[in-house]
Amino acid sequence: MHTQNAESLLTRSNTNYAMDINKKGRDSVKVSQSPRKPLIYYYIIAMIALMLLNALVFPMLNTVQVNEVSYDEFLRMVDQKQLHEVSMDDAQIVFTTKAQDGTLTYYKTGRWPDDTLVDRLYASGAAFAAQIPTQASPLMEFLTSWVLPLAFFLVIGQLLTRYMTKRMGGSNALSFGKSNAKIYIESQTGKTFEDVAGEDEAKEALREIVDFLHQPERYKSIGAKLPKGALLVGPPGTGKTLLAKAVAGEAKVPFFSLAGSEFVEMFVGMGAAKVRDLFKQATEKAPCIVFIDEIDTIGKKRDGANGLGGNDEREQTLNQLLTEMDGFDATKGVVILAATNRPDSLDKALLRPGRFDRRIPVELPDLAGRIAILKVHAKDVKMEADIDFATIGHATSGASGAELANIINEAALRAVRMGREKVAQSDLEESVELVIAGYQRKGAVINERDKKIIAYHEIGHALVAARIKDAAPVHKITIIPRTSGALGYTMQVEEEERVLMSKQDAINQLTILTAGRAAEEVVFSSITSGASNDIEKATSIARAMVTRYGMSEHFDMVALEQVINPYLGSDGSMVCSSETAARVDAEVGDIIRRAHKQAIEVLQNNRALMDKLAMHLLEKETITGEEFQAILKEYDGANATVIA
Ligand code: ADP
Ligand code: ZN
Ligand code: MG
Repeated sequence: MHTQNAESLLTRSNTNYAMDINKKGRDSVKVSQSPRKPLIYYYIIAMIALMLLNALVFPMLNTVQVNEVSYDEFLRMVDQKQLHEVSMDDAQIVFTTKAQDGTLTYYKTGRWPDDTLVDRLYASGAAFAAQIPTQASPLMEFLTSWVLPLAFFLVIGQLLTRYMTKRMGGSNALSFGKSNAKIYIESQTGKTFEDVAGEDEAKEALREIVDFLHQPERYKSIGAKLPKGALLVGPPGTGKTLLAKAVAGEAKVPFFSLAGSEFVEMFVGMGAAKVRDLFKQATEKAPCIVFIDEIDTIGKKRDGANGLGGNDEREQTLNQLLTEMDGFDATKGVVILAATNRPDSLDKALLRPGRFDRRIPVELPDLAGRIAILKVHAKDVKMEADIDFATIGHATSGASGAELANIINEAALRAVRMGREKVAQSDLEESVELVIAGYQRKGAVINERDKKIIAYHEIGHALVAARIKDAAPVHKITIIPRTSGALGYTMQVEEEERVLMSKQDAINQLTILTAGRAAEEVVFSSITSGASNDIEKATSIARAMVTRYGMSEHFDMVALEQVINPYLGSDGSMVCSSETAARVDAEVGDIIRRAHKQAIEVLQNNRALMDKLAMHLLEKETITGEEFQAILKEYDGANATVIA
């Protein structure tokens, strides 16, 4: 396989689509880093600059070089008719000479009682007058040297503020310690529980909170206290933020919403000030809801591991939050909701009773939930009457609400591209694949030999899946390359929702995953990089069998790995000695080797059928599950008669 195409021959050994979808973009935490230099500083600097100018620079600009001469020197210059202008006051005489090029030179001399001076001056032809006070009035001077520059700086400052405010999206840098908590009132979120499909348990728990906010007296008269805070916990895209908005819509009370990242400020102490202010506002507006989204940004464990004081701000903010939560009276009717997909990283203090003591799990939707979510989002889209949401629901196990919403939208986009008025079933099917595997890469040129290898590889997966007992039926096989880098894939769809995986299921999955590579070996006696994705998945399944599911021969029911975050699908960390780790590796290798061997066996026993299917796939590029089953049946039927 060409190296640039060598990414993956994607195989779906069950319907775990969510795995390959790019998770980078979603739920990314925004940390505002816009410059928040307060303008106060600007004004102080401007004032100092102005003072310096007034004290040092302006006087220097105003003074001119004046040469002092003696009175007799002055008289001689008068007689020699060198003077241009003369003026005098009580104490001194100031006069100028004018050079050829017009430059004036200033002189002064002391005044001398001299009655003849006027006559001599007159005779010299110089212009002379008594001193006219050129000095501006004190008021004017004050205006020009203080008020005007100040006004100038003020205007610039105002412009700067406006510019910075625009860049920071409306928050004013000068509003020290003021919270930017947005107030959502029912009409503004516009969401209700109707908009949230599935998630019945979560809705049930939240409905109680809504009810409490509606009629707190009923709870008070019995003496029931509602939890101060509830924490929505679940994987990304399952509708946590949506649920919180729906609560606000249902409760018809003010709704303060802040993302955790908004507390993380540039200046130490600002985050804490924001928390304080938020709670002050909230108690004033009670009953109301305070919603802190992505609370893990501030609520991380205070372990002091990241020394260097870099976490001061976050810790202060968290401490303030804890204090405020303890400080207010729950009967007042302030309910705090928070959402996170990293409950494991939250500080224990946040989770203790009296704070976020109620946890509301928001899980990935099951089949019924998926169908419901698809229908909710399909409401706003024109659809053909015969849409079968159940099929789509089956094909999307493991998908989150956000992904399902995306599938509907992609289907609508495709319908427009195809020039249709309404979304058809085919649009939905294609968009399921699109969300799973990326766009079809129309222009990709793959040479004949590679294409043949890919076809055999995919048929290998499909054929082994068909020949193994209890494996999910093949739904679709394609060798049309996708933008995600997949060169083809085989999709299996489980007939019913499964929650448990038996050891045999796991081994079956491994056999199917290794079958792509096995087909390459059986047919071409060579191997390619195309199996990299299969290898990755197989390894993770085999590893989990040994370290987490207790399905190994050596270790029995010993947990060798700790799952750190079940919601973000991260791998666990090993909790065993290095010798044990080495044995785990060996056993993982054994499990995969056995599955691989079995796949090769199955394919060798079905060589003729494999050729037939591969040729068909090469010609058609995509074959559906029904076509695949038909060819299989026809072949089996024909062979049965031969044997008989
Ligand atoms: P989270 O905050 O859990 O990461 P969001 O609440 O932001 O997820 O959900 C993202 C989008 O996914 C929502 O705006 C909505 O369109 C869709 N969605 C998620 N879950 C559901 C659901 N249960 N019902 C309807 N739509 C959903
Ligand atoms: Zn494969
Ligand atoms: Mg969210």
